[in-house]
Amino acid sequence: MPCYIAAMAEVLKNTFSWSVSRDRTFRECPRQYWFNHYGFWGGWNFEADERTREIYVLKQLTSRPTWVGSVVHDCIRHSIENLSRGIPVLPVERILEITRNRMRNDYRVSRDGLYRDNPKYACGFFEHEYRVPVTPEQWRDSADTVDRCLVTFYASEVWDQLKRTRPGDFLEIERFSNFLLDGVGVTVKLDCATRETDHVVVWDWKTGRREGADAPLQLACYAFYIHQSYGVPIHRVKMRRFELSGGTVHERTIAERELTEILDYVRGSIADMQGLLDDRERNLTHEDRFSKVERREACLRCNFLKVCAPNIGPGVHNASA
Ligand code: SF4
Repeated sequence: MPCYIAAMAEVLKNTFSWSVSRDRTFRECPRQYWFNHYGFWGGWNFEADERTREIYVLKQLTSRPTWVGSVVHDCIRHSIENLSRGIPVLPVERILEITRNRMRNDYRVSRDGLYRDNPKYACGFFEHEYRVPVTPEQWRDSADTVDRCLVTFYASEVWDQLKRTRPGDFLEIERFSNFLLDGVGVTVKLDCATRETDHVVVWDWKTGRREGADAPLQLACYAFYIHQSYGVPIHRVKMRRFELSGGTVHERTIAERELTEILDYVRGSIADMQGLLDDRERNLTHEDRFSKVERREACLRCNFLKVCAPNIGPGVHNASA
């Protein structure tokens, strides 16, 4: 191993940091949580043992709906980053063309299994890995959804408003940030945050048709992060969710009392997760401490199905069965 890689491996630490998605996985299935946050660790090394490497590869898989969301988010992020730097944004037709090419490439790379050698950077679909039958129409439908979302976004009043925003008023654009809650890191990634007169707006792009059950939790974390990092009073943080499938915008703020209750929930979730650690300081634990949910519906869409081998009856090695 070259010495700089060895040095990196020594420096890298699996640090505990709470997030809404971490909580979602923990509630969905504790064993899936272990695969996602502990079992994969070190799997990027080709010297890793076979199972760890496999967990690492499976961790990076994406499903079609998640991919649709990522492609749309990446595209919007790129445009807003350009706006914030005063760089001209391409015409919509060109953006759609580039995006379609990216999607075609993702599809080909995944179909040819290239993600197995390069899981971090080559797209890998759950549907390809587990041989879930997907018709060409369904793939086209995913691409059309991306097109529709982007056309809606670039034709919207929201986009016009962002174009009028001064570069210095863009506070965050899809970057990992964190705040401390009782000394524990909480990770957030805001789609975009802008300053408007006497308040801050946290923007949230949604490609799905329904708001997720943990949306209030997500928004509370965003509001608290802005409050802590930028010194903005909670009542001056506005959250705007732009539903790109329908073109509607929903705005809300969060009351101090609701925020307090939600932060208490986060404290409880952190305690539950850390209660399963063998060594809290070093964030170390064992697979056996994390139960398997073994619910067929959950397992058949779980990335780790083939390494977990849950007891859910026939067809566990092929999600389509
Ligand atoms: S296959 Fe099922 S039991 Fe195993 S990690 Fe996934 S959801 Fe949990």
